Amino acid sequence: MKSITDSELFDTLRKVFGFREFRPNQEQIVRAILENRDVFAVMPTGGGKSLCYQLPAVLLPGTCMVISPLISLMKDQVDGARANGIRAAFLNSSLDPEERDAVMQQLLSNSLDLLYVAPERFTLEAFKKMLGRVNISMAVIDEAHCISEWGHDFRPDYLSLSSLVTMFPDLPVAAFTATATHLVQQNILDKLSLRNSLIVRASFDRPNLSYDIRLKDKVDAQLVSLLKKNAGKAGIIYRTSRKSVHETAEMLKAKGFRALPYHAGLSDHDRKRNQEAFIRDEVDVIVATIAFGMGIDKSNIRFVIHADLPKSIENYYQETGRAGRDGEAAHCTLLFSPGDISKLRFFIDTMTDETERKRALDALSKVVSFASTSICRRRNLLDYFGEHYPHDNCSSCDICLGTRERVDCTREAQMLLSAIVRTEERFGATHIVDIVLGSNTRKIRDFGHDRLKTYGIGKGQSKTYWRQLVDELLAQKVIEKSEGLYPTLFLLPKAVSILKNEECIEILRVVEKTKEKEHDRTLQATETPYDQQLFELLRVLRKEIAQEQGIPPYVVFSDRSLHDMASICPRTADTMLTVTGVGEVKLQRYGRQFLHLIERYCTDHPERAA
Ligand code: ADP
Ligand code: ZN
Repeated sequence: MKSITDSELFDTLRKVFGFREFRPNQEQIVRAILENRDVFAVMPTGGGKSLCYQLPAVLLPGTCMVISPLISLMKDQVDGARANGIRAAFLNSSLDPEERDAVMQQLLSNSLDLLYVAPERFTLEAFKKMLGRVNISMAVIDEAHCISEWGHDFRPDYLSLSSLVTMFPDLPVAAFTATATHLVQQNILDKLSLRNSLIVRASFDRPNLSYDIRLKDKVDAQLVSLLKKNAGKAGIIYRTSRKSVHETAEMLKAKGFRALPYHAGLSDHDRKRNQEAFIRDEVDVIVATIAFGMGIDKSNIRFVIHADLPKSIENYYQETGRAGRDGEAAHCTLLFSPGDISKLRFFIDTMTDETERKRALDALSKVVSFASTSICRRRNLLDYFGEHYPHDNCSSCDICLGTRERVDCTREAQMLLSAIVRTEERFGATHIVDIVLGSNTRKIRDFGHDRLKTYGIGKGQSKTYWRQLVDELLAQKVIEKSEGLYPTLFLLPKAVSILKNEECIEILRVVEKTKEKEHDRTLQATETPYDQQLFELLRVLRKEIAQEQGIPPYVVFSDRSLHDMASICPRTADTMLTVTGVGEVKLQRYGRQFLHLIERYCTDHPERAA
């Protein structure tokens, strides 16, 4: 194989992709491929897997063949590669016969650097035979976990890929995935029988994501406030049920936000339309069940909000992982109410398969403990994947930023517990809270509960406060709810110790305002400062160009590229080339328009041009 010099390697990185340096592991992988070695790499979403094979695809003679499971992903990847001037195409069932013939022609005339194909092609003898007449440079298996029956996305078609190594005895085969437990990893390796392979397991840390878990209180108001903070930015709000997806989307629309729903109950047409509108920056927010996300390559998602408790830590990691693919800062917020636990448990209880039910319960208890402990969120997440986080403070989660504090609420807990005792554990949460608050309800009068010593003892706090404290006491196993239609509260042993002042109880509370501001400031400090107004204008131009060309805006330029432009204000083509993500082809295609806009802006704002 032709040997590639260092300068060729870095020149191509710069000229084609517009990047000055590699991200972690990329160089090692690219070099291994260029040395004709097989590769197996587990890298998180946003880790930059595409570059690992697209760069060799440009450097090596012949066509790099990429097997990819989803039609939508293929299209996106091809758009992205073409925007950088790479000769790319795909072959899948979405093409009509003429289009397919055209791709075949390009392939046979050796005029493609990259070809994306669906795995089922490898079960077709005609296709395999045709490959014999084509100059292939290497084979890539994207989303390689699809080959494992133990993974969550098993694709029977992927099994045929185990013959790739025998099909291409002299060519490198590289497999990539973002999701592989050690078990799945071994399973993939066994199935593919890679030779002398480089195995890379990147860190699962996503340093540009910040994590924040807050008590869910008034969910609508909390969502509105979060969206206001992220005005104009793209984000996903995850909810558990179709109904809540629908209601939240309607509520947000009514308040003037550009939001659309997405769930499995919508027609194919509506789902596709809403997803497309989100991808193309025509709406900012998609409110979705977990049905949303697979096959979404949108790199400029700036926030993900879980308005309900996720099913498992894996789910949480995957769903939050869709934010910030471009490497720019993105925020992940989970609104956690202990009340959500019982809702999820209710669903789990309806499961008939005992093993499934146990697994779901186990996953739930792990996610609850993740949300309720005061350990760094990042450390906790990585720990779950068997990875040790080497720093004491990650500086970008609510725990490390100290936006929460422990508050002793033993006295308040005693008030609630005593109300439960004095009413002989015969009433539910609403009534107990009414007693403590001193409400004048018919039920209270009927039972004479206004004569209890605890009646009205907690007037100083709001109804929400007391409801949350009940949830907290349930979560901390101080009290328990009876089964049945009208669940009543009763004490557990811990409650007795609390009443006797032998044990204290603490809850985590968000420290309001001052510290939250500090939180935002710290997070922004990790970004290079840029001119917000210019950035917005660049975004508008990006969207116009994208619309004209029928591609998603982030394919024209990533948010990262626009931030760079709004920070260094390039006035010449040479300076424009120093912007991350601006290679020679993008400069040639879009440079003039963007330079023109920046020039005009700097003339209008001479103070900022300096
Ligand atoms: P993955 O497939 O691993 O999720 P992608 O290949 O989509 O990740 O890359 C994620 C983002 O990172 C893209 O916007 C891409 O342009 C950018 N990127 C990749 N490599 C680099 C690099 N070396 N320097 C800067 N940005 C990069
Ligand atoms: Zn932290």
